[in-house]
Amino acid sequence: MTTRRLVLGNWKMNTTLEEAIEIADRLREEPTFSGVTVGIAPPFPWLQPVKKALGKSGVLLGAQTFAAMSNGAFTGDVSAAMVAQLCDFALVGHSERRAMHGETDDVVREKLLRALEVNLIPVVCVGETLAERMAGDQERVVLRQIHAVLEGTENEQLDQLVIAYEPVWAIGTGQTASPQDASAMCGLISVALTGRKLIGIPVLYGGSVTAANAGTLIGEENISGFLVGGASLKPDDFLTIVRAAQV
Ligand code: PEP
Repeated sequence: MTTRRLVLGNWKMNTTLEEAIEIADRLREEPTFSGVTVGIAPPFPWLQPVKKALGKSGVLLGAQTFAAMSNGAFTGDVSAAMVAQLCDFALVGHSERRAMHGETDDVVREKLLRALEVNLIPVVCVGETLAERMAGDQERVVLRQIHAVLEGTENEQLDQLVIAYEPVWAIGTGQTASPQDASAMCGLISVALTGRKLIGIPVLYGGSVTAANAGTLIGEENISGFLVGGASLKPDDFLTIVRAAQV
């Protein structure tokens, strides 16, 4: 089974409204992305205008996060159902949410369940810290995250699941994992998913992907695409990464 290629941009808390529209306009004007699905996750307030700017381009719209609760008195939070009104996918358990907003594996699992309830494509992020890698613990940590997050879910619910392997030490640092290390970890994840009879789930690599290194990374057999932070804010670079992933 051929796994879908995916390139997703995570804009984090960046861009003015004007910049956001400019990037969306550039993506809409691209003719086609052969064999690769492209998506962007702008900040919440820009979702609606970016959706309008993307029009019928086929570029997926995503949310960077959403609440673990379904609805209620949670000031400032946004539910999966709200996000699903506008978005195709949502990041679940990005390491910045885990580190800065107390998202444990249990919270990430709850969020995954909320996403599945409303048919949002969940992009579940996993990855080890530098200390964990230095201790040689990366495989144990990532497998723990995968198993903990998927616990209690049925395979029939997970046909849209996407996993992003993002070593924390590589995110926003300019220090990309070597293609061999990235591929080994993505392969480990695929094997764990296959062990659960989850076949053909895309496993993306994220962590300082650039226009310069995307071609080498995508040459590795276990990498199905990218979750891109900083470089997704520069349309020329992002489009170069997308082209590198084309099949
Ligand atoms: C990310 O935000 O998920 C990410 C990988 O960021 P960067 O590409 O900037 O390292």
